[in-house]
Amino acid sequence: MVKTPIDRICLENDILCSACQRKVDSGEISEMDVKVSRVLNRLEKRFKSLKDATFIKSYETTKRIIILTGKGDARKVVGKGGSVVKELSKKFQKGIQVFEVKDSLEDYVKELVPPDMIIGVNRVFTKDGSYYKVILRGKDRKRMKVSRGELEEVLGKLSGEGVKVVFE
Ligand SMILES: [Zn+2]
Repeated sequence: MVKTPIDRICLENDILCSACQRKVDSGEISEMDVKVSRVLNRLEKRFKSLKDATFIKSYETTKRIIILTGKGDARKVVGKGGSVVKELSKKFQKGIQVFEVKDSLEDYVKELVPPDMIIGVNRVFTKDGSYYKVILRGKDRKRMKVSRGELEEVLGKLSGEGVKVVFE
C-alpha cells in the first residue's frame, strides 16, 4: 500500500491517532499532507501504480499543490497518462505537480525550467540570514512554463528559504 507520513489506521479513519496528531501539532506534517495521504490511499483501489509508491510531503502554493514522492516514484503518483494527477486535481481544485525528492535545490530548478537555462544556483549569506539566488539565461525566458513569481514561490516552499530568481 502507498506509504505516507501518517500510519495505516489514520489513513482509513477521519480522525488522527495521538502520534499522528502530534506530528501535525509540531509542524512535522501539515493538514494538507494528511488530506493528500488519505486521498492517495483511497485512489489506490483504482490505481494500482500507487500500491508501492511513497508520498513524502506536499506544499501548497497559490496555483498548485506540489507533491513530493520517494525516488523513482513520481511516475507511480502521476499515474498512467496522468490519471492519478487528474483525480487529485479534481479533488483539490488546483494544479498538481509531482516531484521526486531531490538532493539539492538546483535539481528542483531543473524540473521547473529547461536545464540549459540555468546559469547557477547559489546560496547567498546576508547579515540577516541567507537566501537562494537562481540565475537563469534571460534570452530563453520565453521557454519557461512558469512565471518568475511562481518559480520563486515553489522553490521557496521546497527549500524552506527565500528564493530570488534573476535573469542575466
Ligand atoms: Zn496515526
